[in-house]
Amino acid sequence: MPFRAPVTEFRFLFDHVVDFATVTATPRFADADQDVTDAILTEAGRMCEEVMFPVQRNGDLHGAALENGVVRTSPGFAQAYAQIAEGGWISTSASPEYGGMGLPHSITTAVNEMMSASCLSLQLNPLMTQGQIEALEHHASDAIKAIYLPRLITGEWAGTMNLTEPAAGSDVGALRSKAEPNGDGSYAVSGQKIFISWGDNDFTKNICHLVLARLPDGAPGTKGISLFIVPKYLPDENSDPGVANSLKVVSLEHKLGLHGSPTAVMEFDGATGWLIGEEHDGMRAMFTMMNNARLGVGGQGVGAAEGAYQHALAYALERKQGRTPVEGGAGTIVDHADVRRMLATMKADIFAARAIELACAVAIDMGNATGDKDWKARAAFLTPIAKAFGTDTGIAVAEMGVQVHGGMGFIEETGAAQYARDVRVTAIYEGTNGIQSMDLVGRKLMDGGEAAYALLDEIEDRAEAARGDFPELAEPVWQATETLREATEWMVAQGNMTDRFAGSVPFLRGFARVLGGYYHLRAAVAEGGQGARSKLAQFYIKRLLPEHAGLLVHAMQGGDDLYALSVDDLGAA
Ligand SMILES: Cc1cc2nc3c(=O)[nH]c(=O)nc-3n(C[C@H](O)[C@H](O)[C@H](O)COP(=O)(O)OP(=O)(O)OC[C@H]3O[C@@H](n4cnc5c(N)ncnc54)[C@H](O)[C@@H]3O)c2cc1C
Repeated sequence: MPFRAPVTEFRFLFDHVVDFATVTATPRFADADQDVTDAILTEAGRMCEEVMFPVQRNGDLHGAALENGVVRTSPGFAQAYAQIAEGGWISTSASPEYGGMGLPHSITTAVNEMMSASCLSLQLNPLMTQGQIEALEHHASDAIKAIYLPRLITGEWAGTMNLTEPAAGSDVGALRSKAEPNGDGSYAVSGQKIFISWGDNDFTKNICHLVLARLPDGAPGTKGISLFIVPKYLPDENSDPGVANSLKVVSLEHKLGLHGSPTAVMEFDGATGWLIGEEHDGMRAMFTMMNNARLGVGGQGVGAAEGAYQHALAYALERKQGRTPVEGGAGTIVDHADVRRMLATMKADIFAARAIELACAVAIDMGNATGDKDWKARAAFLTPIAKAFGTDTGIAVAEMGVQVHGGMGFIEETGAAQYARDVRVTAIYEGTNGIQSMDLVGRKLMDGGEAAYALLDEIEDRAEAARGDFPELAEPVWQATETLREATEWMVAQGNMTDRFAGSVPFLRGFARVLGGYYHLRAAVAEGGQGARSKLAQFYIKRLLPEHAGLLVHAMQGGDDLYALSVDDLGAA
């Protein structure tokens, strides 16, 4: 079955749910008017349908392989990548000074999501490059920018991100990779990095690795880490790829899914690199890349959910089984109440996760366009929610997609299982969802809850305004926001971080549930309460929103009962 890019859905969300007009009202993004946005989304959607989606199965069936030290990518990936690059889809938000389009991140987020829906494993490549472009724009010297940015922006060269080591996963500060000054402004970088997405490929002329390593005088922990750009081929005097650098792919991982993306063990053996940002300040520079990538990975989850949903809906519309209870219905399993429940849940959660993702992107754009600290705080607050809820939704929806298919969901030929396998890693990489939730209740509440309360105030104001015309939708959203406010106050009041962390995952999900209710409410109001989006809002608010109450009770239990269960109680004895 073909993939249909959800272009009209993005347009609706931009216009009626996430206030994209505030972005285009800023001088910086004034050019991204309705015509430009429509043209970009339509063209990107077409590329996803016609170029990326056709190679998606190839990535699963004929995954990337290492042959004599060289990575061979899946059939059709090189050609599809060439068209992604040629269309400018890697650099929609990159600086025009170096050849990018300079468009709002909101548009890039929508494009990235559609690309993820059509071929997740290939999309991961440009996503890594985008993050690298942003890190270099903010932290690299002019000389480095002049060499690398134009080539990354055209897609001639690709970027990767190298944090993880065998003993340094979530705890990046434990890394052992080293860098020593060469005395000529460059550094010799040595160490082993694992799990490096797109660590090599056979279709870009160069691959630029951003590598975290410690200088000889670097302090232990994250404070002593520096960031280096280490290209596969050293740029020659014309900035063309010259001699090979001292680095190699040692092996590729065998994975549950995402087979089209080569996940490499990389060895750097005194490889030549150049410092990005200041010495010992690598984490700050890397965070620029990681924040971008966190929202991008959240979008991967939403995209995979969209693909899985379309797949499941098509199957439900053709599979006949049992007597269908609906008069004048489709006459297939789509008429069964439980199948309807699954499809409605999938669609309603995709809407919620997508709205959160775009609201986060709008806040990023507003922060960039105005420098306003409140917008920046909102973007920072929404990023872990967009990442974790987007990817959890991707996993849950893809899993439900398998269930809608019945036995055929477990059979690889239908392709339903590929969505479930491919999307699983999105809750793990770019900071596990557990780490995202700790970030939310830790650093993101260090403002005493200011950013959170500003969001809750906005929801309550809107719900208040909608109460008269849409009481059955507005009232539960208002009530849920009050419950969430109490839970947020509880979190802020906990001085012991373990008590916060013990409830961080249900708190994040509870927050996302309420945000989802808010955005569904706004969609229904925009439609005047009549239409498909209003019916979906009713479904979400009546059936899915109530989950917030249980989640927030869970969130406020503190850590004592978790540690009352000793390691022996867990079964170690
Ligand atoms: C397919 C794939 C692609 C990847 N791509 C890249 C890449 O391109 N570049 C890169 O650098 N890395 C990449 N990674 C690595 C990825 O970012 C890490 O796997 C991830 O950060 C988790 O680290 P870990 O695997 O060491 O798990 P661990 O850190 O060992 O975590 C194990 C479990 O413990 C939990 N945990 C750990 N510490 C804490 C804590 N302090 N508090 C509470 N819970 C905790 C985690 O949430 C998790 O549930 C990739 C991984 C995969 C599988």
